[in-house]
Amino acid sequence: MTDKSSPVSRLLHHRTQGLKKGDPVALPIMASSTFLLPGEPDGSHFYGRNGNPTVEETEAEIGILEGGEAVLFPSGMAAIASVFFGYLRPGDTVLVHADGYYNVRALLAAQFAPMGVAVRTCPTADMASADMSGCRLVMIETPSNPGLEVCDIAAVAERAHAAGALLVADNTTATPVCQQPLDLGADLVVMADTKAMAGHSDVLSGHVASRNTSLLEPVKTWRRLAGAIVSPFDAYLLHRGIATLELRLSRANANALACAEALRAHPSVLDVRYPGLTNDPSHAVASRQMNGFGPIVSFTLANRETAEKFIENNPLIVPATSFGGVHTSAECRIRWGDTVPDGFVRLACGVEPKDDLVSSLTRTLNSLG
Ligand SMILES: *Cc1c(COP(=O)(O)O)cnc(C)c1O
Repeated sequence: MTDKSSPVSRLLHHRTQGLKKGDPVALPIMASSTFLLPGEPDGSHFYGRNGNPTVEETEAEIGILEGGEAVLFPSGMAAIASVFFGYLRPGDTVLVHADGYYNVRALLAAQFAPMGVAVRTCPTADMASADMSGCRLVMIETPSNPGLEVCDIAAVAERAHAAGALLVADNTTATPVCQQPLDLGADLVVMADTKAMAGHSDVLSGHVASRNTSLLEPVKTWRRLAGAIVSPFDAYLLHRGIATLELRLSRANANALACAEALRAHPSVLDVRYPGLTNDPSHAVASRQMNGFGPIVSFTLANRETAEKFIENNPLIVPATSFGGVHTSAECRIRWGDTVPDGFVRLACGVEPKDDLVSSLTRTLNSLG
């Protein structure tokens, strides 16, 4: 019988369906670098760089969420690098977001531009009308981190394909629970599973996914030859995290919307960006392609000093970078050199009860005078 349940239900039951009497219900961590291999190398597992059962179970579960096949990496950047190293050759052109995750452009500048790859950039909000002529790859990140700009994935995919390019979408801020770039025409999805997917701020990981498995071949070859392998311990933590992804995000997204509304209503806040706010410039496109607007809100206070005081004084905010964990955290992005105002704060909502979080925000803002 085919299972017509939602991806989240199928993910939760993926492992248990195949169990025999006496098997452990929880996923074992197969900490083995080598596997029994007498004679010819024809077994399914023989060496850890080529495959590991714990890693493969986690990949299968992420594949269910993506509606495709997933290949795991030890960090989000390792996943993104595998696409660039797998696909880009001297003479190629890549178009990348100008305002998404900074290290993506840093990687292209450090490793690919010197090799003769032309790197073009475009702001996220303008991607659907970007010049993609001659591009091998187009890479978008929507909503973008940290500015929360959005682009129309289906429109960008159509334009990229017309130009003969593959579309790569960084879906880290949304996750496959809130947005499915592969449904909207993206060829490859890349994600930092470090963030909401693993969800507990205790592991780095990432993946590349596609519905066209032949598109994953260059990525798998890169992983096997370059050795960008996630450990079975880390794969286990990710497996454990994604079991509650939808549950955690439904709270975190509701928290983010409530925080965004409270921030918008407060006189000390100069600007708020959240795709879920009806008056946000990204709302129309975001509501068409997302089912949940993610856990991140960005907003601007008068200056850096006020913003730092807000972060320091709020008892429910951990001053830390990253996002997608169970606790709310925040930081001033100017400290990383992002092109944002001095008082720009990225607030990453956790799973605290909503009323606690909103009232702590309001109390802290009021106390700043
Ligand atoms: C964090 C992040 C990455 C990089 O992931 P790491 O696991 O830190 O390597 C890539 N893209 C986005 C949007 C991110 O937020």
